Amino acid sequence: MDYKIATKCVQAGYTPKNGEPRILPIVQSTTYKYDSSEEMGDLFDLKASGYFYTRLQNPTNDAVAAKIAALEGGVAAMLTSSGQAANFYALFNLCSAGDHIVASSAIYGGTFNLIGVTMKKMGIEATFVDPRATAEELEAAFRPNTRAVFAETISNPSLVVLDIEKFANAAHKHGVPLVVDNTFPTPVNCRPFEFGADIVTHSTTKYMDGHATAVGGAIVDSGNFDWLAHTDKFPGLTTPDESYHGVNYAKDFGKAAFITKATAQIMRDLGSIQSPQNAFLLNLGLETLALRMKQHCANAEKISAWLANDPRVSWVSYPALPDSPDHEVAKKYMPNGTCGVISFGVKGGREAATRFMDSLRLAAIVTHVADARTCVLHPASTTHRQMNDEQLVACGISADLIRLSIGIEDADDIIADLDQALAKA
Ligand SMILES: *Cc1c(COP(=O)(O)O)cnc(C)c1O
Repeated sequence: MDYKIATKCVQAGYTPKNGEPRILPIVQSTTYKYDSSEEMGDLFDLKASGYFYTRLQNPTNDAVAAKIAALEGGVAAMLTSSGQAANFYALFNLCSAGDHIVASSAIYGGTFNLIGVTMKKMGIEATFVDPRATAEELEAAFRPNTRAVFAETISNPSLVVLDIEKFANAAHKHGVPLVVDNTFPTPVNCRPFEFGADIVTHSTTKYMDGHATAVGGAIVDSGNFDWLAHTDKFPGLTTPDESYHGVNYAKDFGKAAFITKATAQIMRDLGSIQSPQNAFLLNLGLETLALRMKQHCANAEKISAWLANDPRVSWVSYPALPDSPDHEVAKKYMPNGTCGVISFGVKGGREAATRFMDSLRLAAIVTHVADARTCVLHPASTTHRQMNDEQLVACGISADLIRLSIGIEDADDIIADLDQALAKA
């Protein structure tokens, strides 16, 4: 049955058989028992499917990964211990030393560092491009050794909405997949595969968990990218893996090639699995995701309009605002809403911003976004503090930017809190 998204949030991934637990059980076991060595050997050879060690597969994690794959409309998914691990694994599954990535410059600070600094140390280079670049400007960023294009559907914290088709076309023209981090809109508001993205990643820490209980990540494969049409570019997927008894992921696993390799090779060797406990919490969050996204967006639409009309506020960025440069792009890719995150500046610059932040009562200062409780952050002094001013500007962040993550409380209470804190700024 192809259910609608709200139904998938509740029901996908786990269907108990007669007499089994109604709620997804937490399989808190590192290992699994077999009657013969031969049966276990077949599992190791990937000849049979089954569980043998939780670093590679766990029934709780698999059910939650299957739910996320269903939400995105993908063929397979894998959970990771964090969003950072998800983005690293997704890219490292495609690239090795000597390769190159084209990445949007408007991305999460941790990912910018991962791609620009840490992966560079591994011999993987990157060219950062403005997400609003023209097709010609994008074109100029590619090299013969480019192996992936990376961007965020709504960038954190600059809130630029990606023209997914433009990026997908550029990637496909060069025979490489488009990897997009879909953390902010979630599949409830945007399903990038419908617009040509090939791989989707998530920090499930944010809206998917939704309650700020567990750090986690996910990678989803659309199954659409034809690895065998680009064997020269992706030998890791299209030639035998000597570290895995000569398995050929593309030939042996077809549409599941990408996730099978990510599991059998990258997760096997690097080991950033999500704990089954955290996957259980994530699943509870996912059950109400569609419901919560509606409230996050309705609140943020009301509050962004209120902020935009307030003389104490110097600027407001929210993709759903009519004067947002991304208004049309957002309408195309996210017709039902974008996300609950707003960024804005307080008149009086950095000092006024600090006084404003310190005067809030309901909204808490936390290094987080996208959970049920309204919270605020000043990226220039926290998440993005490793960047110099030039890099900040390239990421679309000004020194006075306040990132406001609107929760699911009553919008009027949030507005009253912002109002009294602005009075003190
Ligand atoms: C938070 C975040 C990440 C990193 O995820 P963690 O779960 O904190 O490791 C990656 N991308 C985006 C868009 C994020 O918001």
